[in-house]
Amino acid sequence: MRIVDVKVRVFRHTTRRHQDSAGHGHPGEPHKVKQGMLSIVCDDGSEGHCFGAPETIRPHLIETFVKKVLIGQDPFDRELLWQELAHWQRGSAGQLTDRTLAVVDTALWDLAGRALGLPVHKLIGAYRDKVPAYGSTMCGDELEGGLATPEDYGRFAEKLVARGYKGIKLHTWMPPVSWSPNVKMDLKACAAVREAVGPDVALMIDAYHWYSRTDALELGRGLEKLDFAWIEEPLDEQSTSSYAWLAANLDIPVLGPESAAGKHYARAEWIKAGACDILRTGVHDVGGITPSLKSIHLADAYGMNCEIHGNGAPNLVLAASAKNIRWYERGLLHPFLEYDDGFEYLNSLADPMDADGFVHLSDKPGMGEDINFDFINDNLVA
Ligand code: MG
Repeated sequence: MRIVDVKVRVFRHTTRRHQDSAGHGHPGEPHKVKQGMLSIVCDDGSEGHCFGAPETIRPHLIETFVKKVLIGQDPFDRELLWQELAHWQRGSAGQLTDRTLAVVDTALWDLAGRALGLPVHKLIGAYRDKVPAYGSTMCGDELEGGLATPEDYGRFAEKLVARGYKGIKLHTWMPPVSWSPNVKMDLKACAAVREAVGPDVALMIDAYHWYSRTDALELGRGLEKLDFAWIEEPLDEQSTSSYAWLAANLDIPVLGPESAAGKHYARAEWIKAGACDILRTGVHDVGGITPSLKSIHLADAYGMNCEIHGNGAPNLVLAASAKNIRWYERGLLHPFLEYDDGFEYLNSLADPMDADGFVHLSDKPGMGEDINFDFINDNLVA
């Protein structure tokens, strides 16, 4: 089997999620946004697909780098293709990013699963077929009855527990919220949620990412009193030393890195530096399923858990792939949005959750997404 084409479709769909000036999502009126889908096509008609932001799969990148590496190659040589694409990054003047690698690599995994008639988590070698989900909230806001006060977080947490979630992660207030960031308000929201859900629900926080060391220490010590399960990205992840300092000074597990560049190589450095107690990886953060598996296995070899960043089928597949992963991150959630409504371009939810808080893996071949090709083709951007 040989790859004969790489196609990109860009289409519009309706969402109620809006981005603020820091890139964080909040609820609002329905509006149209663009989404991309990359498809890898083989000479026997086999195809593999992955969704991605249109800018990460724009024509220049596909023609200059992706097609030159992929066309004529065996789609099952994922390691070779990933390495060859990764080696283009240095000479690409910063244009070929890990985000593009991730979309290509994930489409290759999807293609392999579809061609072999296997769900990708089975192709990898699954550890489980259902994963407990934590409800991951949107960042705080200034919307009345939304996530504007500690009491709002407490009320929303009660709803999430009633829905079945056994864990909740708060994204607290960050600029452009007028009075943020504020460690004391973060701790008030965390205390309100602990009060609302009792001692048996796992709680985590993903706070403002640019606190000072002393602010992050104050936050962490407050969370220890509330029995939180981890603290995530309270400092700029470009400073590994700051995380090593924080991890040495706190009892609560420090989780990371999520947004730091450097794929699995940077994660090895974090472990060596003692900068985290729980490792982090995500399909779109490190360049695909392939380097995510390396990150997960690296953590396993050091007796560490590795938690997966972000929702969607590829990250769900990862969450089912190894013993040292505790959760699937489901969201982002907000009192004004119904997450289970899903997306117009999928015929069904990629991450259906039962009343006990377990998200079930699809037994469909490939990544398990039930793609609505008719909707995509009817809504193409000219
Ligand atoms: Mg995060």
